[in-house]
Amino acid sequence: MLRLHANDPLDKTAMKILADSGLFDITAEALDKNALLKIMPEVEILVVRSATKVTAEIIEAGKKLKLIARAGVGLDNVDAEAAEARGIMVKNTPGANAISVAELTFGLLLGLVRHIPRGVYGIKDGKWEKKDLKGNEIFGKTMGIIGFGAIGRTVAKIALAFGMKVVAYDPYVNFTDLEVTLVDSIEKLLPKADVVSLHIPLTPETKHIIGEKEISLMKDGVIIINASRGGTIDEQALYNGLISEKISGAALDVFEVEPPSDELRRKLIGLGNVICTPHIGASTSEGQKRVGLEMAKIIVDVCSN
Ligand code: NAD
Repeated sequence: MLRLHANDPLDKTAMKILADSGLFDITAEALDKNALLKIMPEVEILVVRSATKVTAEIIEAGKKLKLIARAGVGLDNVDAEAAEARGIMVKNTPGANAISVAELTFGLLLGLVRHIPRGVYGIKDGKWEKKDLKGNEIFGKTMGIIGFGAIGRTVAKIALAFGMKVVAYDPYVNFTDLEVTLVDSIEKLLPKADVVSLHIPLTPETKHIIGEKEISLMKDGVIIINASRGGTIDEQALYNGLISEKISGAALDVFEVEPPSDELRRKLIGLGNVICTPHIGASTSEGQKRVGLEMAKIIVDVCSN
């Protein structure tokens, strides 16, 4: 039996698949760094979602570690280089939560352009702000997608169904059968987009991919949506763009530091034209189930060969 430790929770059905395989001696508990370091010498398969940071130190302690299973996409919480150096496999579940994140992207966009949060909280506070809450349609507007992977493509399909035009930039994608204009530089995308939506991993190349210079290339009154990773947008530049009214609104599911600092809450997040959610892009029952099932199948596959 292989010792499997799930340090972040996996969907129940996924845990059942792992247990029924008879391959694993399973423990499931969110241990803090020190407690995890203590058990790592015995762990052969480490299962995480996004909360556990699988650092070089954790990997080094895993003397018998064979597989790091990251349920979800984005490997920014796993030191993949340290794992590779030790010949430890790292697997994730690409695409499994694309629908959930893409749907939240439109929830954020519609929430922003139709002032839904303000309408909700206004009524709850006894206000009837009908005259103040004139919004905008998204029909006929141009959605600019940065990162045309599983989520970016799903966002494009939904945008097209809303009657939007779609422009996308991804240096690693040069073909699509969707009705999308692919451009070969971010500078070509930014002046065309009424809405800029980010769907990229956080890497050294994408850190602050949206900063002062990029914002200056955008249309006046642009809307920015980020349901990818905090750190892809320079939050100070975003704040400046909102204050100067170059940017008409921003909707954020992710922040450079999570949860965001009090200072960020007072400044950027406190602005009336910023709405936000606490990194819930992938948090749906359906998405978590899909991610869990795919992860369990991958783990069983890898371990039975
Ligand atoms: P994916 O790997 O399918 O797509 C990412 C795309 O980004 C790829 O096509 C890649 O070529 C492209 N890319 C890389 N560098 C780029 C650059 N410099 N400029 C433009 N494009 C670039 O991943 P995905 O499933 O579509 O997820 C995208 C990102 O969404 C993840 O990396 C993760 O950071 C984020 N995410 C957020 C949540 C959430 O809860 N908000 C949930 C899941 C994923």
